[in-house]
Amino acid sequence: MSSHTVPTVEASEPTAYRMLIGGEWVEAADGRTLEVITPIDRHRVIATTPRAGAEDVDRAVAAARRAQRGWAALPFTERQGALLRIADDLEDAAEDLAALTALDTGNALRTQARPEALLLASAFRYFAGLAGELKGVTLPSGTDALSLTRRVPVGVVAGILPWNSPLMIAAFKLPAALVSGNAMILKAAEDAPTTILELARVCERHLPPGVLGVLTGYGPEVGQALVEHRGVDKVSFTGSTATGSGVAAAAGERLAHVSLELGGKSPCIVFPDSDTDEVVEQVLLATRFARQGQSCTSGSRLFLHESVHDSFLDRLVDRVSQLVVGDPREEATDIGCIINQRQWDRVQGYVDDALATDGIRVAYDGRPALTVGEPGFYHAPMILSQVDNGWRIAREEIFGPVLSVIPWREEDEVVAMANDSHYGLAAFVFARDLGMALRTAQRVESGWVQVNQGGGQQVGQSYGGMKASGQGREFSLEGMLEGFTQIQQINVRLT
Ligand code: NDP
Repeated sequence: MSSHTVPTVEASEPTAYRMLIGGEWVEAADGRTLEVITPIDRHRVIATTPRAGAEDVDRAVAAARRAQRGWAALPFTERQGALLRIADDLEDAAEDLAALTALDTGNALRTQARPEALLLASAFRYFAGLAGELKGVTLPSGTDALSLTRRVPVGVVAGILPWNSPLMIAAFKLPAALVSGNAMILKAAEDAPTTILELARVCERHLPPGVLGVLTGYGPEVGQALVEHRGVDKVSFTGSTATGSGVAAAAGERLAHVSLELGGKSPCIVFPDSDTDEVVEQVLLATRFARQGQSCTSGSRLFLHESVHDSFLDRLVDRVSQLVVGDPREEATDIGCIINQRQWDRVQGYVDDALATDGIRVAYDGRPALTVGEPGFYHAPMILSQVDNGWRIAREEIFGPVLSVIPWREEDEVVAMANDSHYGLAAFVFARDLGMALRTAQRVESGWVQVNQGGGQQVGQSYGGMKASGQGREFSLEGMLEGFTQIQQINVRLT
């Protein structure tokens, strides 16, 4: 990865990171720092990072503005070449980045962290391939006129990242922004900043200084200052709906561009013809239990048709009981750790609240069988059945390994329940009858619907939410064009 000391649990000293501004690795202007613990061991500070403030934002924005014009002026093949070289280096570093992801997010190496690191490298390769698609059009205006459009970059883009899968979410934003000629300033999550800083080390070798900046620190300090800065042309935010709403208001107030990837409470609908082991495996992927449920696209509301309800649930419980909750660095582990105490308490609060509800059934509670715990933030998966779609656990995003199972009878009824949510990020439909599956998929109000599969994220797909789950799309050609470029029209009189 790089020659400096990379954090480990065993290291006697935390790694002292700096942040990237204008091609230099710097401290915060006022010298303040913050400590990063690992969710594997709450007592272990694995790293320190600068605690950036408004002055650092000024510096980063000035550097980005200086760099952006030259970067945008390059022939597209040069930006393409840079991204391809970054992709090569990221592939070489993938195993190290995966190990660091396991350490700073708690995401298990085999099931999550490694795929996230590999996805990042593929994203750089994919967007490098799109460099030539940043094309304009010409109007057939006759021989006396030339009427053409250009796709020009938005300018300086702030990318605000959450802690749950930092590399994957950076992959949604960074290569698309860069290849289309923008400069990007990433704000890493305070709880999981280290992989983003390592990503920046790889990228800076191939980019002009200032084209990529990385700031670390607290959201209400450095994040807010970035969002409000007049030199930031666009804010691309991923995080909670509450924070995103404030970010959109602050950016909107000064008429900056904004895109938002927010939370979800996604439905997962199983039709009567799909009571099979294979579908159980896919539903298991959809639960995102393997990321401790800390996924905005988790299929956290499982709608089981009443005719297969008991049989499907039995199979699912059997399968979930085989999952290994353990040290995220171990290959054998399926489910790692929750990010921090606050999130662990939040998940537990939802569980306690649900268990006190009349009529709820506990289909599976893995807590008694847990073999790991203190000092890590481990939480076993839970499946709660006979849930009412109106209950709090079926309406609010828990962001933990808790699945609500809801029975249904009629197709219209299940579609209505699926859509009875202020969220609209993802959805999953399982039916062997493809007519039924596709009809339902089209009726569900979600930005991303998967049919007969539960994982399946791929580079090039449009990613983003409807309703309170967000605005704008990322990760695709359309997302790149709409999110990171704007059209300039040029009309020329030729006579
Ligand atoms: P937050 O919304 O709290 O934070 C997201 C990012 O925004 C962090 O970097 C945070 O900084 C920063 N931030 C906080 N306050 C401000 C502010 N006032 N101005 C600018 N930036 C700010 O979410 P979490 O990090 O807690 O992530 C979990 C949530 O994110 C989940 O609830 C989930 O719904 C959502 N999410 C959505 C995804 C999607 O693609 N739709 C993907 C992943 C998560 P700091 O690190 O200091 O808190």
